[in-house]
Amino acid sequence: MTAEDYKRVWAECLDVIKDTLGPENRRAFDTWFLPIVPLQLDGSTLIVQVPSQFFYEYLEEHYIDLLRRVIRMQLGPAGMLRYNVVMDQSIRTSPIVTTLPSQSRQSTRNPLMDMPLSSGGDNQREIPNPFVIPGLNKQRVVSQLSPNFTLENFVEGDCNRLARSAGYAVAEKPGITSFNPLLLHSNVGLGKTHLANAIGVKTKELHPDKTVLYVSSEQFMQQYAEAGRSGNTNDFIHFYELIDVLIIDDIQFWSGKGPKTQEAFFHIFNYLHQHNCQIIITSDKAPGELQGLEPRLLSRLKWGLSADLQAPDVETRKAILRQKLQNDGIEMSDDVIEYIAYNINTNVRELEGALISLIAQSSLNRKQITLELTKQMIDKYVQSSVREVTIDYIQKVVCDYLDLPVEAIQNTSRKREIVQARQLSMYFAKKITKSSLAVIGMQCGNKDHATVLHACKTIENLRQTDRYMRNMVEELEKKLSE
Ligand code: ADP
Ligand code: MG
Repeated sequence: MTAEDYKRVWAECLDVIKDTLGPENRRAFDTWFLPIVPLQLDGSTLIVQVPSQFFYEYLEEHYIDLLRRVIRMQLGPAGMLRYNVVMDQSIRTSPIVTTLPSQSRQSTRNPLMDMPLSSGGDNQREIPNPFVIPGLNKQRVVSQLSPNFTLENFVEGDCNRLARSAGYAVAEKPGITSFNPLLLHSNVGLGKTHLANAIGVKTKELHPDKTVLYVSSEQFMQQYAEAGRSGNTNDFIHFYELIDVLIIDDIQFWSGKGPKTQEAFFHIFNYLHQHNCQIIITSDKAPGELQGLEPRLLSRLKWGLSADLQAPDVETRKAILRQKLQNDGIEMSDDVIEYIAYNINTNVRELEGALISLIAQSSLNRKQITLELTKQMIDKYVQSSVREVTIDYIQKVVCDYLDLPVEAIQNTSRKREIVQARQLSMYFAKKITKSSLAVIGMQCGNKDHATVLHACKTIENLRQTDRYMRNMVEELEKKLSE
Protein backbone atom coordinates (compact mmCIF):
# COMPACT_ATOMS: atom_id res chain seq x y z
CA MET A 1 0.00 0.00 0.00
CA THR A 2 1.36 3.43 -0.86
CA ALA A 3 0.72 6.79 0.71
CA GLU A 4 -1.42 7.62 -2.29
CA ASP A 5 -3.98 5.09 -1.23
CA TYR A 6 -5.53 7.15 1.55
CA LYS A 7 -8.59 8.05 -0.48
CA ARG A 8 -9.29 4.52 -1.49
CA VAL A 9 -8.77 3.29 2.06
CA TRP A 10 -11.25 5.77 3.43
CA ALA A 11 -13.73 5.06 0.65
CA GLU A 12 -13.61 1.41 1.58
CA CYS A 13 -14.02 2.25 5.25
CA LEU A 14 -17.07 4.31 4.35
CA ASP A 15 -18.56 1.41 2.43
CA VAL A 16 -18.27 -0.88 5.40
CA ILE A 17 -19.55 1.75 7.82
CA LYS A 18 -22.55 2.43 5.64
CA ASP A 19 -23.23 -1.25 5.34
CA THR A 20 -22.89 -1.83 9.05
CA LEU A 21 -25.10 1.08 10.04
CA GLY A 22 -27.72 -0.05 7.57
CA PRO A 23 -30.39 1.98 5.83
CA GLU A 24 -32.19 2.75 9.08
CA ASN A 25 -29.17 4.73 10.23
CA ARG A 26 -28.64 6.49 6.96
CA ARG A 27 -29.03 9.88 8.58
CA ALA A 28 -26.39 9.16 11.17
CA PHE A 29 -24.11 8.05 8.37
CA ASP A 30 -24.70 11.23 6.36
CA THR A 31 -24.28 13.37 9.44
CA TRP A 32 -21.23 11.87 11.04
CA PHE A 33 -19.26 10.08 8.35
CA LEU A 34 -19.74 11.87 5.06
CA PRO A 35 -18.17 15.13 6.34
CA ILE A 36 -14.94 13.34 7.23
CA VAL A 37 -12.17 14.09 4.76
CA PRO A 38 -9.22 11.72 4.36
CA LEU A 39 -5.92 13.60 4.30
CA GLN A 40 -3.02 11.26 4.36
CA LEU A 41 -1.78 7.78 5.02
CA ASP A 42 1.23 7.54 7.29
CA GLY A 43 2.29 3.91 7.51
CA SER A 44 -0.73 2.23 8.96
CA THR A 45 -2.16 5.46 10.34
CA LEU A 46 -4.91 7.15 8.41
CA ILE A 47 -5.21 10.88 9.03
CA VAL A 48 -8.62 12.41 8.55
CA GLN A 49 -10.08 15.85 8.98
CA VAL A 50 -13.22 16.45 11.03
CA PRO A 51 -15.19 19.70 11.14
CA SER A 52 -15.07 20.43 14.86
CA GLN A 53 -13.96 19.33 18.27
CA PHE A 54 -17.50 18.36 19.12
CA PHE A 55 -17.63 16.25 16.01
CA TYR A 56 -14.51 14.41 17.03
CA GLU A 57 -15.81 13.83 20.53
CA TYR A 58 -19.09 12.57 19.23
CA LEU A 59 -17.37 10.07 16.96
CA GLU A 60 -15.16 8.87 19.77
CA GLU A 61 -18.04 8.44 22.10
CA HIS A 62 -20.49 6.77 19.78
CA TYR A 63 -18.59 5.14 17.00
CA ILE A 64 -15.21 4.22 18.37
CA ASP A 65 -15.83 0.49 18.15
CA LEU A 66 -17.07 0.69 14.62
CA LEU A 67 -14.19 2.91 13.54
CA ARG A 68 -11.64 0.71 15.19
CA ARG A 69 -13.05 -2.28 13.42
CA VAL A 70 -13.08 -0.82 9.95
CA ILE A 71 -9.66 0.73 10.30
CA ARG A 72 -8.19 -2.59 11.35
CA MET A 73 -9.97 -4.34 8.56
CA GLN A 74 -8.38 -1.99 6.07
CA LEU A 75 -5.00 -1.39 7.65
CA GLY A 76 -4.36 -4.48 9.72
CA PRO A 77 -4.09 -4.88 13.49
CA ALA A 78 -1.74 -1.91 13.88
CA GLY A 79 -4.19 0.34 12.05
CA MET A 80 -4.76 3.73 13.64
CA LEU A 81 -6.90 6.72 12.96
CA ARG A 82 -5.76 10.27 13.67
CA TYR A 83 -8.03 13.27 13.57
CA ASN A 84 -7.29 16.79 12.47
CA VAL A 85 -9.84 19.24 13.76
CA VAL A 86 -10.71 22.30 11.71
CA MET A 87 -10.34 25.42 13.81
CA ASP A 88 -11.97 28.50 12.36
CA GLN A 89 -10.85 28.00 8.79
CA SER A 90 -7.29 27.13 9.69
CA ILE A 91 -6.43 23.57 10.42
CA ARG A 92 -4.59 22.62 13.53
CA THR A 93 -1.57 21.18 11.95
CA SER A 94 -0.47 19.02 14.76
CA PRO A 95 -3.13 16.48 15.30
CA ILE A 96 -4.63 17.04 18.68
CA VAL A 97 -5.89 13.58 19.16
CA THR A 98 -4.83 10.17 18.30
CA THR A 99 -6.87 7.15 18.83
CA LEU A 100 -7.37 3.55 17.99
CA PRO A 101 -3.95 2.16 18.65
CA SER A 102 -4.23 -1.56 18.98
CA GLN A 103 -3.77 -1.26 22.74
CA SER A 104 -6.20 1.56 23.29
CA ARG A 105 -8.09 2.62 26.36
CA GLN A 106 -10.40 -0.29 25.89
CA SER A 107 -7.64 -2.81 26.08
CA THR A 108 -8.77 -4.05 29.46
CA ARG A 109 -11.91 -5.33 27.88
CA ASN A 110 -12.27 -8.79 26.61
CA PRO A 111 -10.49 -8.58 23.27
CA LEU A 112 -13.28 -10.56 21.68
CA MET A 113 -15.60 -7.66 22.49
CA ASP A 114 -14.36 -6.23 19.24
CA MET A 115 -16.63 -8.58 17.42
CA PRO A 116 -19.09 -6.60 15.36
CA LEU A 117 -22.55 -6.61 16.82
CA SER A 118 -24.18 -6.65 13.49
CA SER A 119 -23.41 -9.28 11.01
CA GLY A 120 -23.48 -9.37 7.28
CA GLY A 121 -21.37 -7.71 4.67
CA ASP A 122 -17.67 -8.11 4.38
CA ASN A 123 -16.92 -7.87 8.05
CA GLN A 124 -18.34 -11.34 8.49
CA ARG A 125 -14.95 -12.91 7.94
CA GLU A 126 -13.60 -10.88 10.87
CA ILE A 127 -15.92 -12.52 13.33
CA PRO A 128 -14.02 -15.15 15.23
CA ASN A 129 -16.49 -17.97 15.23
CA PRO A 130 -16.89 -18.52 18.94
CA PHE A 131 -17.87 -22.14 18.70
CA VAL A 132 -14.75 -23.30 16.95
CA ILE A 133 -12.27 -21.64 19.27
CA PRO A 134 -10.20 -24.51 20.61
CA GLY A 135 -10.42 -25.09 24.33
CA LEU A 136 -13.58 -23.10 24.56
CA ASN A 137 -15.02 -22.81 28.02
CA LYS A 138 -17.93 -20.85 29.31
CA GLN A 139 -16.00 -17.87 30.56
CA ARG A 140 -14.62 -17.28 27.14
CA VAL A 141 -17.92 -16.78 25.41
CA VAL A 142 -18.15 -13.23 24.17
CA SER A 143 -21.51 -11.81 25.11
CA GLN A 144 -21.69 -9.43 22.12
CA LEU A 145 -23.60 -7.07 24.40
CA SER A 146 -23.32 -3.36 23.89
CA PRO A 147 -22.51 -1.51 27.13
CA ASN A 148 -24.43 1.51 25.81
CA PHE A 149 -27.88 -0.04 26.05
CA THR A 150 -28.71 -0.44 29.71
CA LEU A 151 -31.86 -0.62 31.81
CA GLU A 152 -30.72 2.56 33.54
CA ASN A 153 -30.84 4.53 30.32
CA PHE A 154 -33.99 2.88 29.04
CA VAL A 155 -36.53 5.52 29.93
CA GLU A 156 -39.67 4.14 31.51
CA GLY A 157 -43.14 5.19 30.39
CA ASP A 158 -46.63 3.72 30.11
CA CYS A 159 -45.57 2.49 26.71
CA ASN A 160 -42.97 0.06 28.01
CA ARG A 161 -43.63 -0.48 31.72
CA LEU A 162 -44.63 -4.14 31.56
CA ALA A 163 -41.80 -5.12 29.24
CA ARG A 164 -39.26 -3.19 31.25
CA SER A 165 -40.22 -4.67 34.59
CA ALA A 166 -40.44 -8.16 33.14
CA GLY A 167 -36.95 -7.55 31.81
CA TYR A 168 -35.76 -6.56 35.24
CA ALA A 169 -37.30 -9.65 36.81
CA VAL A 170 -35.63 -11.84 34.22
CA ALA A 171 -32.23 -10.26 34.85
CA GLU A 172 -32.62 -10.84 38.58
CA LYS A 173 -33.65 -14.46 38.24
CA PRO A 174 -32.76 -15.64 34.77
CA GLY A 175 -34.47 -18.88 33.79
CA ILE A 176 -36.41 -19.12 37.01
CA THR A 177 -39.36 -16.79 36.49
CA SER A 178 -42.31 -17.85 34.38
CA PHE A 179 -41.16 -15.30 31.79
CA ASN A 180 -39.29 -17.93 29.84
CA PRO A 181 -39.03 -17.30 27.02
CA LEU A 182 -39.47 -13.55 27.27
CA LEU A 183 -40.72 -12.31 23.94
CA LEU A 184 -40.45 -8.57 23.29
CA HIS A 185 -42.28 -7.22 20.31
CA SER A 186 -43.03 -3.81 18.77
CA ASN A 187 -42.78 -1.83 15.58
CA VAL A 188 -39.33 -0.70 14.54
CA GLY A 189 -37.39 1.84 16.52
CA LEU A 190 -39.27 1.43 19.78
CA GLY A 191 -36.53 -0.14 21.87
CA LYS A 192 -36.59 -3.92 21.45
CA THR A 193 -32.88 -4.23 20.79
CA HIS A 194 -32.08 -1.74 23.52
CA LEU A 195 -34.20 -3.53 26.12
CA ALA A 196 -33.09 -7.05 25.19
CA ASN A 197 -29.47 -5.96 25.34
CA ALA A 198 -30.09 -4.14 28.62
CA ILE A 199 -31.48 -7.29 30.20
CA GLY A 200 -28.28 -9.05 29.18
CA VAL A 201 -26.12 -6.29 30.67
CA LYS A 202 -28.08 -6.33 33.93
CA THR A 203 -27.86 -10.13 34.13
CA LYS A 204 -24.09 -9.94 33.76
CA GLU A 205 -23.96 -7.29 36.46
CA LEU A 206 -26.03 -9.32 38.92
CA HIS A 207 -24.67 -12.73 37.95
CA PRO A 208 -21.14 -12.35 36.59
CA ASP A 209 -20.75 -16.11 36.35
CA LYS A 210 -23.65 -16.52 33.94
CA THR A 211 -22.88 -16.89 30.27
CA VAL A 212 -24.91 -14.37 28.32
CA LEU A 213 -25.01 -14.20 24.55
CA TYR A 214 -26.67 -11.69 22.27
CA VAL A 215 -27.07 -12.64 18.61
CA SER A 216 -29.23 -11.35 15.83
CA SER A 217 -31.36 -14.01 14.20
CA GLU A 218 -29.49 -13.25 11.01
CA GLN A 219 -26.12 -13.91 12.59
CA PHE A 220 -27.46 -17.11 14.10
CA MET A 221 -28.61 -18.25 10.69
CA GLN A 222 -25.29 -17.40 9.06
CA GLN A 223 -23.35 -19.19 11.77
CA TYR A 224 -25.53 -22.22 11.34
CA ALA A 225 -25.00 -22.27 7.58
CA GLU A 226 -21.27 -21.78 8.04
CA ALA A 227 -21.13 -24.59 10.61
CA GLY A 228 -22.97 -26.85 8.18
CA ARG A 229 -20.52 -26.10 5.39
CA SER A 230 -17.52 -26.89 7.55
CA GLY A 231 -19.07 -29.97 9.15
CA ASN A 232 -19.36 -28.36 12.59
CA THR A 233 -23.08 -28.47 13.13
CA ASN A 234 -22.68 -30.38 16.37
CA ASP A 235 -20.18 -27.86 17.69
CA PHE A 236 -22.65 -25.16 16.82
CA ILE A 237 -25.46 -26.80 18.78
CA HIS A 238 -23.18 -27.57 21.73
CA PHE A 239 -21.94 -24.04 21.82
CA TYR A 240 -25.44 -22.68 22.13
CA GLU A 241 -26.28 -25.22 24.79
CA LEU A 242 -23.55 -23.69 26.96
CA ILE A 243 -25.40 -20.40 27.20
CA ASP A 244 -27.29 -19.43 30.36
CA VAL A 245 -29.06 -16.42 28.90
CA LEU A 246 -29.60 -16.46 25.16
CA ILE A 247 -30.88 -13.33 23.44
CA ILE A 248 -32.03 -13.64 19.84
CA ASP A 249 -32.90 -10.35 18.17
CA ASP A 250 -35.40 -9.90 15.34
CA ILE A 251 -36.67 -13.42 15.03
CA GLN A 252 -39.14 -12.37 12.33
CA PHE A 253 -36.13 -12.53 10.03
CA TRP A 254 -36.55 -16.30 9.97
CA SER A 255 -40.08 -16.09 8.61
CA GLY A 256 -40.35 -18.26 5.57
CA LYS A 257 -36.67 -19.14 5.45
CA GLY A 258 -34.12 -21.49 6.93
CA PRO A 259 -36.26 -24.39 8.12
CA LYS A 260 -33.03 -26.12 9.20
CA THR A 261 -31.95 -23.10 11.21
CA GLN A 262 -35.32 -23.03 12.88
CA GLU A 263 -35.08 -26.71 13.64
CA ALA A 264 -31.64 -26.27 15.19
CA PHE A 265 -32.98 -23.43 17.26
CA PHE A 266 -35.94 -25.54 18.29
CA HIS A 267 -33.57 -28.13 19.75
CA ILE A 268 -31.44 -25.52 21.44
CA PHE A 269 -34.56 -23.88 22.82
CA ASN A 270 -35.80 -27.14 24.32
CA TYR A 271 -32.44 -27.93 25.81
CA LEU A 272 -32.04 -24.52 27.40
CA HIS A 273 -35.60 -24.43 28.64
CA GLN A 274 -35.27 -27.82 30.28
CA HIS A 275 -32.10 -26.69 31.98
CA ASN A 276 -33.68 -23.50 33.35
CA CYS A 277 -31.70 -21.27 31.09
CA GLN A 278 -33.27 -18.00 30.01
CA ILE A 279 -34.31 -17.26 26.46
CA ILE A 280 -35.10 -13.74 25.32
CA ILE A 281 -36.47 -13.11 21.88
CA THR A 282 -37.47 -9.98 20.02
CA SER A 283 -39.73 -9.66 17.06
CA ASP A 284 -41.32 -6.86 15.12
CA LYS A 285 -44.57 -8.81 15.10
CA ALA A 286 -46.77 -10.18 17.84
CA PRO A 287 -46.48 -13.96 18.13
CA GLY A 288 -49.92 -14.38 16.56
CA GLU A 289 -48.79 -12.55 13.46
CA LEU A 290 -45.44 -14.24 13.01
CA GLN A 291 -46.20 -16.09 9.83
CA GLY A 292 -43.78 -18.43 8.17
CA LEU A 293 -42.24 -19.60 11.42
CA GLU A 294 -42.26 -23.33 12.17
CA PRO A 295 -45.51 -24.01 14.07
CA ARG A 296 -43.84 -26.00 16.84
CA LEU A 297 -41.31 -23.24 17.36
CA LEU A 298 -44.10 -20.69 17.38
CA SER A 299 -45.96 -22.64 20.03
CA ARG A 300 -42.83 -22.66 22.21
CA LEU A 301 -42.58 -18.88 21.94
CA LYS A 302 -45.99 -18.64 23.53
CA TRP A 303 -44.91 -20.55 26.62
CA GLY A 304 -43.53 -17.59 28.47
CA LEU A 305 -44.41 -13.92 28.51
CA SER A 306 -45.01 -11.83 25.46
CA ALA A 307 -44.67 -8.11 26.17
CA ASP A 308 -45.04 -5.30 23.68
CA LEU A 309 -43.46 -1.88 23.44
CA GLN A 310 -45.74 0.92 22.33
CA ALA A 311 -44.86 4.28 20.87
CA PRO A 312 -43.98 6.65 23.72
CA ASP A 313 -46.32 9.47 24.66
CA VAL A 314 -45.07 13.03 24.59
CA GLU A 315 -43.91 13.09 28.22
CA THR A 316 -41.84 9.96 27.67
CA ARG A 317 -40.46 11.45 24.47
CA LYS A 318 -39.34 14.50 26.41
CA ALA A 319 -37.77 12.30 29.07
CA ILE A 320 -35.92 10.31 26.42
CA LEU A 321 -34.57 13.49 24.82
CA ARG A 322 -33.44 14.83 28.20
CA GLN A 323 -31.75 11.58 28.96
CA LYS A 324 -29.85 11.51 25.67
CA LEU A 325 -28.76 15.11 26.17
CA GLN A 326 -27.60 14.49 29.68
CA ASN A 327 -25.69 11.50 28.44
CA ASP A 328 -23.90 13.63 25.86
CA GLY A 329 -23.39 16.52 28.28
CA ILE A 330 -25.33 18.91 26.10
CA GLU A 331 -27.73 21.57 27.34
CA MET A 332 -30.87 22.56 25.51
CA SER A 333 -33.69 24.80 26.55
CA ASP A 334 -37.06 23.33 27.45
CA ASP A 335 -38.88 24.90 24.55
CA VAL A 336 -36.45 23.30 22.11
CA ILE A 337 -36.93 19.90 23.73
CA GLU A 338 -40.69 20.37 23.69
CA TYR A 339 -40.71 21.34 20.07
CA ILE A 340 -38.83 18.22 19.06
CA ALA A 341 -40.90 15.96 21.32
CA TYR A 342 -44.18 17.31 20.02
CA ASN A 343 -43.22 17.13 16.38
CA ILE A 344 -41.43 13.81 16.10
CA ASN A 345 -43.78 11.12 17.18
CA THR A 346 -43.06 8.23 14.87
CA ASN A 347 -40.52 6.30 16.89
CA VAL A 348 -37.59 6.71 19.21
CA ARG A 349 -35.01 6.16 16.51
CA GLU A 350 -36.40 9.10 14.54
CA LEU A 351 -36.48 11.15 17.70
CA GLU A 352 -32.81 10.47 18.32
CA GLY A 353 -32.03 11.07 14.66
CA ALA A 354 -33.63 14.49 14.79
CA LEU A 355 -31.75 15.39 17.95
CA ILE A 356 -28.43 14.29 16.49
CA SER A 357 -29.00 16.20 13.26
CA LEU A 358 -29.84 19.30 15.22
CA ILE A 359 -26.71 19.04 17.34
CA ALA A 360 -24.63 18.40 14.24
CA GLN A 361 -26.16 21.36 12.40
CA SER A 362 -25.46 23.71 15.24
CA SER A 363 -21.96 22.39 15.65
CA LEU A 364 -21.12 22.54 11.94
CA ASN A 365 -22.45 26.04 11.51
CA ARG A 366 -21.39 27.22 14.93
CA LYS A 367 -24.89 28.33 15.66
CA GLN A 368 -26.59 28.28 19.01
CA ILE A 369 -29.45 25.82 19.26
CA THR A 370 -32.35 28.24 19.38
CA LEU A 371 -36.03 27.50 18.94
CA GLU A 372 -35.77 29.16 15.53
CA LEU A 373 -32.98 26.87 14.34
CA THR A 374 -34.84 23.89 15.77
CA LYS A 375 -38.00 24.79 13.90
CA GLN A 376 -36.15 25.13 10.61
CA MET A 377 -34.34 21.88 11.12
CA ILE A 378 -37.22 19.80 12.40
CA ASP A 379 -39.58 21.07 9.75
CA LYS A 380 -37.12 20.06 7.09
CA TYR A 381 -36.60 16.78 8.89
CA VAL A 382 -40.26 15.84 9.02
CA GLN A 383 -41.06 17.13 5.56
CA SER A 384 -40.26 13.84 3.94
CA SER A 385 -42.33 11.76 6.29
CA VAL A 386 -45.72 13.46 6.09
CA ARG A 387 -46.03 15.53 9.16
CA GLU A 388 -48.86 14.37 11.30
CA VAL A 389 -50.52 16.64 13.80
CA THR A 390 -51.15 14.69 16.96
CA ILE A 391 -53.76 15.13 19.65
CA ASP A 392 -50.95 15.94 22.08
CA TYR A 393 -49.78 18.71 19.82
CA ILE A 394 -53.29 20.13 19.41
CA GLN A 395 -53.72 20.22 23.18
CA LYS A 396 -50.43 22.01 23.54
CA VAL A 397 -51.26 24.66 20.96
CA VAL A 398 -54.73 25.22 22.41
CA CYS A 399 -53.44 25.47 25.98
CA ASP A 400 -50.59 27.77 25.02
CA TYR A 401 -53.09 30.00 23.28
CA LEU A 402 -55.40 30.12 26.28
CA ASP A 403 -52.46 30.39 28.64
CA LEU A 404 -53.34 27.21 30.51
CA PRO A 405 -51.03 24.40 31.57
CA VAL A 406 -51.53 21.49 29.21
CA GLU A 407 -52.24 19.15 32.15
CA ALA A 408 -55.49 21.05 32.70
CA ILE A 409 -57.06 19.08 29.85
CA GLN A 410 -56.60 15.88 31.81
CA ASN A 411 -58.06 17.00 35.14
CA THR A 412 -61.70 16.85 36.04
CA SER A 413 -62.20 20.58 36.41
CA ARG A 414 -65.40 22.04 35.01
CA LYS A 415 -64.07 25.57 35.04
CA ARG A 416 -65.32 27.34 31.93
CA GLU A 417 -61.96 28.05 30.35
CA ILE A 418 -60.73 24.52 30.95
CA VAL A 419 -63.88 23.00 29.52
CA GLN A 420 -63.39 25.24 26.53
CA ALA A 421 -59.78 24.16 26.06
CA ARG A 422 -60.90 20.55 26.20
CA GLN A 423 -63.68 21.14 23.70
CA LEU A 424 -61.40 23.01 21.33
CA SER A 425 -58.86 20.20 21.50
CA MET A 426 -61.56 17.66 20.71
CA TYR A 427 -62.89 19.79 17.87
CA PHE A 428 -59.49 20.11 16.21
CA ALA A 429 -58.56 16.51 16.90
CA LYS A 430 -61.71 15.39 15.11
CA LYS A 431 -61.03 17.79 12.26
CA ILE A 432 -57.32 17.22 11.72
CA THR A 433 -56.37 13.76 12.96
CA LYS A 434 -57.57 10.38 11.86
CA SER A 435 -58.30 9.32 15.43
CA SER A 436 -61.68 7.87 16.34
CA LEU A 437 -64.04 9.74 18.66
CA ALA A 438 -63.30 7.17 21.35
CA VAL A 439 -59.55 7.73 21.14
CA ILE A 440 -59.96 11.50 21.09
CA GLY A 441 -62.18 11.31 24.18
CA MET A 442 -59.74 9.08 25.99
CA GLN A 443 -56.85 11.43 25.34
CA CYS A 444 -58.80 14.57 26.22
CA GLY A 445 -59.57 13.94 29.86
CA ASN A 446 -60.88 10.38 29.59
CA LYS A 447 -64.28 11.28 28.13
CA ASP A 448 -66.53 9.08 26.03
CA HIS A 449 -67.29 9.50 22.35
CA ALA A 450 -70.62 11.22 22.99
CA THR A 451 -68.83 13.97 24.87
CA VAL A 452 -66.49 14.46 21.94
CA LEU A 453 -69.39 14.70 19.53
CA HIS A 454 -71.11 17.20 21.80
CA ALA A 455 -67.92 19.26 22.03
CA CYS A 456 -67.56 19.39 18.26
CA LYS A 457 -71.15 20.60 17.87
CA THR A 458 -70.76 23.20 20.59
CA ILE A 459 -67.63 24.69 19.04
CA GLU A 460 -69.14 24.63 15.56
CA ASN A 461 -72.25 26.47 16.81
CA LEU A 462 -70.24 29.04 18.69
CA ARG A 463 -67.99 29.56 15.71
CA GLN A 464 -70.99 30.56 13.65
CA THR A 465 -72.65 32.77 16.24
CA ASP A 466 -69.87 34.23 18.34
CA ARG A 467 -67.29 36.54 16.85
CA TYR A 468 -64.80 35.94 19.66
CA MET A 469 -64.95 32.19 19.11
CA ARG A 470 -64.67 32.52 15.34
CA ASN A 471 -61.55 34.55 15.75
CA MET A 472 -60.06 32.06 18.17
CA VAL A 473 -60.78 29.05 15.95
CA GLU A 474 -59.23 30.80 12.96
CA GLU A 475 -56.07 31.70 14.83
CA LEU A 476 -55.71 28.23 16.22
CA GLU A 477 -56.24 26.75 12.78
CA LYS A 478 -53.41 28.90 11.51
CA LYS A 479 -51.08 27.86 14.29
CA LEU A 480 -51.86 24.22 13.80
CA SER A 481 -51.08 24.32 10.10
CA GLU A 482 -47.82 26.21 10.52
P1 ADP B 1 -35.96 -1.62 17.80
O1 ADP B 1 -34.99 -2.72 18.10
O2 ADP B 1 -37.30 -1.83 18.42
O3 ADP B 1 -36.07 -1.30 16.34
P2 ADP B 1 -34.02 0.01 19.15
O4 ADP B 1 -33.84 -0.77 20.41
O5 ADP B 1 -32.95 -0.10 18.14
O6 ADP B 1 -35.44 -0.29 18.49
O7 ADP B 1 -34.25 1.54 19.55
C1 ADP B 1 -34.00 2.61 18.68
C2 ADP B 1 -33.29 3.71 19.42
O8 ADP B 1 -34.18 4.29 20.37
C3 ADP B 1 -32.10 3.22 20.20
O9 ADP B 1 -31.05 4.15 20.08
C4 ADP B 1 -32.59 3.16 21.63
O10 ADP B 1 -31.54 3.44 22.55
C5 ADP B 1 -33.62 4.26 21.66
N1 ADP B 1 -34.71 3.99 22.60
C6 ADP B 1 -35.84 3.29 22.37
N2 ADP B 1 -36.62 3.26 23.45
C7 ADP B 1 -35.99 3.96 24.42
C8 ADP B 1 -36.31 4.30 25.78
N3 ADP B 1 -37.43 3.91 26.36
N4 ADP B 1 -35.40 5.05 26.45
C9 ADP B 1 -34.25 5.45 25.87
N5 ADP B 1 -33.91 5.18 24.60
C10 ADP B 1 -34.76 4.43 23.86
MG1 MG C 1 -33.82 -3.87 16.82
